[in-house]
Amino acid sequence: MLSIEVDRFARMSQIRYQRDIERIDLPIPAKIRQLPIFSDPELASETKQRIKFVLIYINGVILLISGGLGYLLAGKTLQPIKEMVDEQNRFISDASHELRTPLTALKSSMEVHLRDRKLTLQQAKKLIRENISDVNKLKTLSDALLTLASFEKRKEVKLSGKVNLSKLVCECMEDLEPLAKERHIMFKSNLGSFSVWGDMHKLTELVTILLDNAIKYSKEDGLVSLKIRAEKGFVLFSVKDNGIGIKKDNLPLIFDRFFRAEEQRNTIGYGLGLAIAKNIVELHRGQISVESIYGKGSTFIVKLPQNKFS
Ligand code: ADP
Repeated sequence: MLSIEVDRFARMSQIRYQRDIERIDLPIPAKIRQLPIFSDPELASETKQRIKFVLIYINGVILLISGGLGYLLAGKTLQPIKEMVDEQNRFISDASHELRTPLTALKSSMEVHLRDRKLTLQQAKKLIRENISDVNKLKTLSDALLTLASFEKRKEVKLSGKVNLSKLVCECMEDLEPLAKERHIMFKSNLGSFSVWGDMHKLTELVTILLDNAIKYSKEDGLVSLKIRAEKGFVLFSVKDNGIGIKKDNLPLIFDRFFRAEEQRNTIGYGLGLAIAKNIVELHRGQISVESIYGKGSTFIVKLPQNKFS
């Protein structure tokens, strides 16, 4: 296009030059009148070459800058997707690891008993009972994993409305009373009358996890205190126990999936309760925190919005 423009410019200059010369009333020889002003075709082609070079150079720079920017922007856009895929892969490998150990134990115990020719009916029944108990534990684990996985689709979860948290906590306490009694643990509560915006079933699950842990990790004859109070549009619910407490190093890990303190590795549990609790709180746009002194006890505090959030 620029080359055409250069030619056009030369043509037009020639026409104008001749028109202007004709207007002059002086005896100019015809040779001079017809003299082309762009008499040097080499100069014209050199100009074209230079324009071509400048254009290639400028376009190259534009291409490089836009390519680089495009690469950076694409990276930025894809980062959350990459993080999500990484998180999903971590979840799958954690879950498979947790499922493999009890399944292998179950399989080998059945194989050993199957090879035993002298296996009595009584022994077989005992084995089946043990297996059923293991299968139940596996079911608990898979249920917890499914609950965690469902939080990935959190946008689909609808928070139904106002929930009377005080009443809900009271009901959870009643449900867990037999478990507490078994371990001679007392409940003390100051619940008032407070409501939050959320999902009743999920909040029940959250309170149950915290209460269950408070009982599980309390010493015999312990005391679990539950309190609810309001503060600047939020409701603060706390569960305090005077149990085994959590080591300072473990505090930042406590809400991680599959995290269990060293001392609890051999007891029942999969380290999923607090991860689920954290997800439920985040779903309600709240916060969960823990304060603990090792050997003295722990306090879990949940902060939830009182009113509907957009
Ligand atoms: P689980 O109780 O099944 O192991 P959780 O996710 O509920 O799984 O808890 C993770 C870990 O946090 C527990 O293994 C325990 O070490 C610690 N923990 C949770 N709650 C308490 C508590 N109230 N007191 C002391 N330690 C606790």
